[in-house]
Amino acid sequence: MQYIVLDLEWNQALTRESMRRKGFTLVGEIIQIGAVRLDSVNGKADTIRLVIAPKYYKKIHWSVRKLTGISTKSLENGLTFPDAYAQFMDWCGENVTFLTWGPDDLPMLRDNLRLHNMSTQSLPASFDLQRIFARQIAGKKQQFSLSDAMEQLGIPQTIPAHDALNDALNTAEVCRKLDLEAGIAHYDDPFPQQKKSPADDDALPRTIYQSYAEMAQTEFESPSPCPACGNDLTLSKWVRRAPGKRITLATCMCGEKFILKVRWKIDDESDHVFATRMLEEATEEQIGAYQRALRAHRRTRHRKPKTQPISADKTAK
Ligand SMILES: [Zn+2]
Repeated sequence: MQYIVLDLEWNQALTRESMRRKGFTLVGEIIQIGAVRLDSVNGKADTIRLVIAPKYYKKIHWSVRKLTGISTKSLENGLTFPDAYAQFMDWCGENVTFLTWGPDDLPMLRDNLRLHNMSTQSLPASFDLQRIFARQIAGKKQQFSLSDAMEQLGIPQTIPAHDALNDALNTAEVCRKLDLEAGIAHYDDPFPQQKKSPADDDALPRTIYQSYAEMAQTEFESPSPCPACGNDLTLSKWVRRAPGKRITLATCMCGEKFILKVRWKIDDESDHVFATRMLEEATEEQIGAYQRALRAHRRTRHRKPKTQPISADKTAK
C-alpha cells in the first residue's frame, strides 16, 4: 500500500449564471494536479505536477488568480483533463490510497471525471488529513487551514502556498507528524460526505431595504467588481425591462462585458423592498436587447417627459 498526498487547484465560473448545469452543477474545473508519494524510495521526493487547460471555465476567475497566481494565458498549453488524469494515475501505480487536506478535493475530482464521462469506479480510498489532524493534534472538531496546521506543528512555510504541488508537499510534511495508521483506524468514514455545494442552493441572496429610494441608491449605484479581473465595472444607463426589473450593461477595462440585473418586490404591508442583483456574462444577443430597450426608453422619455418618474416603479410590481 502506498500513500499519495493529493492536492488540486480549480477554476470557477465567472458568474453564477454561467455555471455549467448539464447533468449536474459544475462548481469547479480542475486546472492543476499536484501529488507527493509519501514513502519515497531512497528518501528522494517523488512528486508530480500537472497543468490542465480548462474546457468549460476557460477564463480564470479573479479570486482564483489572486489566490494561485494562475492566469488564463498560462493554461493555454496545459493538458486536457483526460490526459492529465491518465498520466497521474500512471504515476500513482497500483494499490494506492489518497490523502488530502480538507473534504473538497475528492468530490471535485469525481465531478471532473463525470464531466468528461470518465468512470469514478477506479478511484482509490481516500482520507482527509484535516480530520485526523483535528482529532490528534488540535483536539477540536473544526476545520484548520493547512497553514494553521503547519504553524501549530512548527513546520516552516518555505514554499508559496496555493500551488497544487507545494500544497501537497506541505500536506505531506504535516502528515509525517501525525499517527497516520491510528488516524485511519479510527476514521469513521473513508469517503467524506459530499459537501452541499453553494450552487445547489438556487435561492439568490436577497437584500431587504426600508424604502424604494434606499434600494435604488444601493442597487443601482454601488460598484460591482469584474469577475474576470477584480476591477470595478463601468455601468451604463439602467433601463426598465419589466415592472420591478431593470438591467444595465456593465463593461470592464479588461474587455469583459456583463449584464447586471436588479429585480425587486415591494412588500404591501411593511413597504420593505426585497432586491436581488445578478451579474451575467453578456452575449451579443443580450447586448442587442439592452440597446433596443435603451432606445425605446429614450423615445418614451422624449414623447412624454417627466410622466414616468423613478418612483412610478413603486406601484408597479
Ligand atoms: Zn475586468
